[in-house]
Amino acid sequence: MKDLNNFSSLQELKHYFRERIKSLHPDRGGNKEEFLEFMNWYEKVSKYLKNHSCFQRVEVKDTCSFKGKYLFSILEFTVEEIALGGFKKIKIPVEEKTCEACKGSGKNKEGKKNYCGFCKGDRYVKIYDKRKEGETFLKCPYCKGEGFLIAEVCSLCRGKGKIREEREIFIEIPLGLKEGKILFLDKNLVDSLYDLYFEVTILPHPFFELRENYILYKCKIPFWEVILKKEITVVTLEGEEKIDSKYFIQDSPIILKGRGPFLSHGKRGDFYIDFRIVVPLEIPEESKTLIAKAVENLLEKHRGGINGNS
Ligand SMILES: [Zn+2]
Ligand SMILES: [Zn+2]
Repeated sequence: MKDLNNFSSLQELKHYFRERIKSLHPDRGGNKEEFLEFMNWYEKVSKYLKNHSCFQRVEVKDTCSFKGKYLFSILEFTVEEIALGGFKKIKIPVEEKTCEACKGSGKNKEGKKNYCGFCKGDRYVKIYDKRKEGETFLKCPYCKGEGFLIAEVCSLCRGKGKIREEREIFIEIPLGLKEGKILFLDKNLVDSLYDLYFEVTILPHPFFELRENYILYKCKIPFWEVILKKEITVVTLEGEEKIDSKYFIQDSPIILKGRGPFLSHGKRGDFYIDFRIVVPLEIPEESKTLIAKAVENLLEKHRGGINGNS
């Protein structure tokens, strides 16, 4: 029998099962003991695979084709997840069990009760029996002979009578995802009760804007940092990074080639640092005097005129 490690997904195991069972089944001339041993093994392995998260590929679609049993939900992604890909943990419904709290009735037996209007609380209703040619009493069909109706729904299953069991799996984030695209997971691939549709939503980022094939990072740099610091700290997809301050003495954005989002063909776009040099709104008189001195000194050193970078 094959080792557990040979199967990366339930789907693979099921395929193997179907092939093997053909020859092993006693009805087809297989050995009964061997068959039972195989069934035991299959049960163990399939349980293991169901309970252990495995990485799952998803299909990217433009629209949903709602057919059969399906569930539709919104799946939120961060800009980093969309840009860099990787794996994302999601929950999928795998089984429905009868709610233990209400035994499947969906009602809260301990909760508020309403008087049955049909039998007026008498539990029985009077009817005319044709065979007996007379009146007879029958258990109230509305309250089932209780005389009252339970008014509150079970809080555990919210009145459904069933509890949906979930399992966590990891999906591979497809590269180049766009807002509004649909991710599709076939129920047979993940042994879910439903086909799963997820609409992609990208959460707003505090610094980054995800554009068609690049990331735009807008930032403000105080003027003295450009003059006094050798390096300026910026944030990239890979985290904080120091960039030589000479690149900030120019009018155009700084472009980090190939450091932007992964695109659907697997290559990375660019990362644009659109910076703005800022001057504080209020400058104290004392600071102004000091700046004036600095400017005086600067002009002295540049007798031939100042060549800015324009
Ligand atoms: Zn009744
Ligand atoms: Zn319940």
